[in-house]
Amino acid sequence: MVASNGHGTTGPDVDVVVAGAGFAGLHMLYRLRHLGVSVRAFESGADVGGTWYWNRYPGARCDIPTVDYSYSFDPELEDEWTWSEKYATQPEILRYLQHVADKHDLRRDIQFSTTVAEATWDDEQRLWHIRTDRGDELTARYYVMATGCLSMPKAAEVEGLERYRGDVYFTSRWPHEGVDFTGKRVAVIGTGSSGIQSIPLIAAQAEALTVFQRTPNFSIPAHNGPVPEKMRDAIAGRAAEYREAAKWSVGGIPVEPTQVVTFSVTPEERTARYEDAWQAGELFAILGVYADLMVNPDANAELAGFLHDKIRSIVEDPETADTLCPKDHPFGTKRPCLDTNYFATYNLPHVRLVDLRKHPFRSITESGIDTVDESLEFDAIVFATGFDAMTGALVAVDITGRDGVTLKDKWAHGPTTYLGLTTVGFPNLFFITGPGSPSVLSNMAVSIEQHVDWVADCIADLRARGVDTIEPTETAEAGWVQHVNDCADITLYPTANSWYMGANVPGKPRVFLPYIGGVGKYRIACDEVVDRDYLGFRLKSGADTTCNDGVIRRVQPDVAAVMEMMAMLDLPPLETMDPDTARAFVEASSAMRPPGPDVGEIVDGTIPGPAGDLAYRLYRPPTDGPHPVVVYFHGGGWVLGNATSDDPLCRDLCVRSNSVIVSVDYRHGPEARFPAAIDDGFAATRWVADNAVALGGIPGELAVFGWSAGGNIAAVVCQLARDAGGPAIVGQGLMTPVTDLDMSSGSYAENGEGYILTAALMKWFCDHYADEADRSDPRASPLRADNLAGLPPAIVITSEFDPLRDEGIAYADALTAAGVPVQHIAARGHTHTSLTMVDMVISGAKIRAEIADALRAFFGASVPAH
Ligand SMILES: Cc1cc2nc3c(=O)[nH]c(=O)nc-3n(C[C@H](O)[C@H](O)[C@H](O)COP(=O)(O)OP(=O)(O)OC[C@H]3O[C@@H](n4cnc5c(N)ncnc54)[C@H](O)[C@@H]3O)c2cc1C
Repeated sequence: MVASNGHGTTGPDVDVVVAGAGFAGLHMLYRLRHLGVSVRAFESGADVGGTWYWNRYPGARCDIPTVDYSYSFDPELEDEWTWSEKYATQPEILRYLQHVADKHDLRRDIQFSTTVAEATWDDEQRLWHIRTDRGDELTARYYVMATGCLSMPKAAEVEGLERYRGDVYFTSRWPHEGVDFTGKRVAVIGTGSSGIQSIPLIAAQAEALTVFQRTPNFSIPAHNGPVPEKMRDAIAGRAAEYREAAKWSVGGIPVEPTQVVTFSVTPEERTARYEDAWQAGELFAILGVYADLMVNPDANAELAGFLHDKIRSIVEDPETADTLCPKDHPFGTKRPCLDTNYFATYNLPHVRLVDLRKHPFRSITESGIDTVDESLEFDAIVFATGFDAMTGALVAVDITGRDGVTLKDKWAHGPTTYLGLTTVGFPNLFFITGPGSPSVLSNMAVSIEQHVDWVADCIADLRARGVDTIEPTETAEAGWVQHVNDCADITLYPTANSWYMGANVPGKPRVFLPYIGGVGKYRIACDEVVDRDYLGFRLKSGADTTCNDGVIRRVQPDVAAVMEMMAMLDLPPLETMDPDTARAFVEASSAMRPPGPDVGEIVDGTIPGPAGDLAYRLYRPPTDGPHPVVVYFHGGGWVLGNATSDDPLCRDLCVRSNSVIVSVDYRHGPEARFPAAIDDGFAATRWVADNAVALGGIPGELAVFGWSAGGNIAAVVCQLARDAGGPAIVGQGLMTPVTDLDMSSGSYAENGEGYILTAALMKWFCDHYADEADRSDPRASPLRADNLAGLPPAIVITSEFDPLRDEGIAYADALTAAGVPVQHIAARGHTHTSLTMVDMVISGAKIRAEIADALRAFFGASVPAH
């Protein structure tokens, strides 16, 4: 229905429809009302509160300290409301939300006990047709879904529930009048957060309690009680500052993340720190105990072992204790829980644990539950089985966008959004904490407010500009989805079958749902989108369409983090130094890096070069030899570098490719200019080929590899070896190589500044290395060679944000055109230097694995894989 808007023209009935009246819906309503737009909200429940309206099971509490888990939009609340506990109970949080609704008279715009059932986009009228389950129909310019990430309970997965004659409860739909289990035989199915919170309290009442566990979960004691003084003090008298810090933090609580990595400290220090985190009883304390906890499997396993020991020290029966120890997922990859006496509950004589992995359900019967090996009778069954998280409540509404596409169909293979806020094909539809936003990985109160503010500001802005519709572009959405995945892929999170992955719901696609890059970084991205004139959004005003299309985050997240760190250090540019100072500077920086993996053996030696001895460092794999041999040329613009500067990369190549790596020095400019480096590189290659057996190599299995200027040398050495009739080289690895010294390619213009290797630094290198007149010599610029035929097979690795990218691509193309087999690896989101940052830039690891595969392929199938 399109109604008259009272101005003589047709328009929507209301400006905005909001679905949901929890934390998000209430704040949305407040903001919209203050913008002066008309708004109507619908809420399935009979009152406000959302999560805290529905989840009334015994023990229901927040697991983020309540002083943090509260609104910041109304500063008066800081004084008006005092939390009684560190982790407030459900009734107290519900009272808080009711207080907010009362104070701001929000209920008057909310229709309760009403579910939005259908939303259909009308592209002609540019509005949404909304229909509720109670038959309301209205139109709105914007539709905001504040329907909750954890609001759609998961259906029971065990057959026969309809037969059961006892009482059935779902923790997520708990009776308002409460439940008395006194004298009852009770089953609880599920040991996620709701199960872990409720089990001790149900056990305290029930005559007998049987807990059915499919997946054990990590849990630490909440140590709940009155709000600790340090938490009160942190915010007292400086609430605005505190809330502001939370907005830019990693998880929505203003704590400074540690930079310390696990194995950089002694075992004793580690245990002490784990114990402190256990005693703190705060999720963010234990999740942030070491900087590498969620990226380094060994670090994670050590903490998991500590937590297993804790469980075993509490639970008296060793078999029960073992069943309660989570072993199928790294710590933190499923939401860890906070508990009060959870593990100790299993010491009570009337409490029993059934491991569903060993004794699966057969069915629910009239009087209880049959597992495959026994029949158990119960007076009540409690389902603590969780939610169809993040997407459940969104696709439960029948939403049809442009061109008749439904949201359910669009997301059949997993949700795709731009910023977690919007999705292509559904103009003027906003999600609060949608998939692709930090949401469930953060203090949601903070994330919700950020989303609400972004949406409200956006609506205000569009109205002021006379814009009718906003919709993301495919490019922007695909870019954001990629970024969300890139962020997840460098962590251990995707390794678990968690609800973060949709794995708890049968048939749900496995996609990492939340954005793991952090609340502050996410906020910066959202703000930047607006500042860049709604980057990646298509805006329609009447017949006009404007669009500044693009992708908001293209650099790999860990590469971006390193660049940010370097920017903070505000280091002087190398090109402002003289070569000796620059060399000392590079050497000092090298000393501060992670060392790279252990190899079997490292041997330093010398090679007779054309103008004196050249140092080399040989890396031998830990496996039995002989091995194929790779002659390695370091980077550093023919001015800087040595075996030490590229040590972590050489170790990594050695272990991954199972080859002996001989990292050879060569003379540098300006002291020894072109072609000294090339002469040395060729002489060294010949010497290694001649001495392969003595070096532990397999005769004839010789490749060359180089990074940057070293890639240039490797490419030239292959041309010289071909022309000289030897030595035989079976393959060349060219990583972000210099192939043409004219420095004029498009990637110089695109990436010449801001990505560590700058155009200015390249000029400094070239000036120290080669006279202008020499630069077109194919021994300086191998791309300029007349003939590239007959060269060894190549892998060419180029990085997206590298001034040298295009000349690398050009060389790969030219080799291919000359009939040389080429594998081109394009490192998306990487810079010139990032692939060398072993153990710092985790996203580079899979590229280095590809490189190692390609090296092994040079050597033939006889070389065993690492
Ligand atoms: C037991 C539990 C404990 C939690 N503890 C914490 C914590 O400590 N810290 C934290 O950050 N987060 C916690 N969460 C997550 C919690 O969901 C969020 O913090 C927050 O309450 C979400 O608010 P919301 O308004 O986005 O969604 P919700 O609170 O889920 O509200 C959404 C509302 O939308 C309604 N709705 C859904 N679909 C429709 C529709 N189609 N039409 C009309 N109405 C609809 C629902 O009935 C619901 O009331 C917890 C969640 C649970 C379940």
